Amino acid sequence: KERVFSGMQPTGSLHLGNYLGAMVQWIQMQETHECIYCVVDLHAITVWQEPKELRHAIRQVTAAYIASGLDPKKSILFNQSQVSAHAELAWIFNCVARLGWLNRMTQFKEKAGKDRENASVGLYAYPNLMAADILAYRATHVPVGEDQKQHLELARDIAQKFNNDFREQIVAAGHEDGVFFPQPEPVITGPATRVMSLRDGTKKMSKSEPSDMSRINLMDDTDKIADKIKRAKTDMEPAPPTDIEALKARPEIDNLVGIYAALAGISKEEGLKALQDTASEGPSIFTGLKRVLTEVAVEKLGPIRAEIVRLMDDPAEIDRVLADGSARARAIAVPILADVKDIVGLIRS
Ligand code: ATP
Ligand code: MG
Repeated sequence: KERVFSGMQPTGSLHLGNYLGAMVQWIQMQETHECIYCVVDLHAITVWQEPKELRHAIRQVTAAYIASGLDPKKSILFNQSQVSAHAELAWIFNCVARLGWLNRMTQFKEKAGKDRENASVGLYAYPNLMAADILAYRATHVPVGEDQKQHLELARDIAQKFNNDFREQIVAAGHEDGVFFPQPEPVITGPATRVMSLRDGTKKMSKSEPSDMSRINLMDDTDKIADKIKRAKTDMEPAPPTDIEALKARPEIDNLVGIYAALAGISKEEGLKALQDTASEGPSIFTGLKRVLTEVAVEKLGPIRAEIVRLMDDPAEIDRVLADGSARARAIAVPILADVKDIVGLIRS
């Protein structure tokens, strides 16, 4: 049976990368699958979060989920820390995963930076908790952006090693094929699976990047969106790229065309054509592209922002949605965790 799980960290407010890389896919999948969407607050605290801001961000990410089109009746929406099965299973996975596997994770290297000795142990073990998030529900499909591919591969390795290590117990528990955990499949098929920073075409757009100018947030108003796009980095080439190959060699332009195409619901080829057709508008060859990009961004994000603002007016209602979702999530995860404990040989009452 197919089951979808995914999550976003309340490390700030959601941006265009989160929306185009994951959220659009989440919304589609709730029509065809049983979906569980989580605000992964335990992941957020792997780097320092001011407690008051964290609480606000958890509610705001929840509001952004709903405002973007997730329906708390169709899907399960909840925050991770309310379902202790995530943390419990993560500990067991800490004992399944190997140091060598985690040492290869590029996200840890990027986030820990040069001062690796000073990174939290949680940041290092992050991928094990992510595997637990998914496998606590024995989820089969995980819609994410491109950057999470490596973590998904690790989750698959953990599932497989657990199945191998405890094969005898798993079969004895009635799973004749010896498969307790499925191999969760990454679904990396959003309209733009890797949106890059507006300031640096080689870095992905991120919540935790200090410069707010690097991203378009779902909470940005019309003026902010216009200003950020206007100041988005381009290049010095005198003419627009002639074809998709030439576009690829110009990361900042490639990114802007990609964002425009994704928001407008057209192909990248058509996006490139829009750039070529407007290149004479001036003063720069990118002025026209930036104009149409601003228009479509404001048109798509404006209503979402208004709805987030409306929902944030009633934090108690958001907390109710999270409490209800958490109870429904617990109802799935608790029996799976109980089976895991039996398989591993732990005693429970
Ligand atoms: P942080 O900087 O705190 O890690 P983030 O912006 O990377 O925040 P996450 O909460 O880590 O956001 O990721 C939530 C989802 O959004 C994941 O599925 C991730 O793959 C996706 N995502 C994040 N950034 C991008 C991006 N720039 N382009 C496409 N998808 C993205
Ligand atoms: Mg991230």
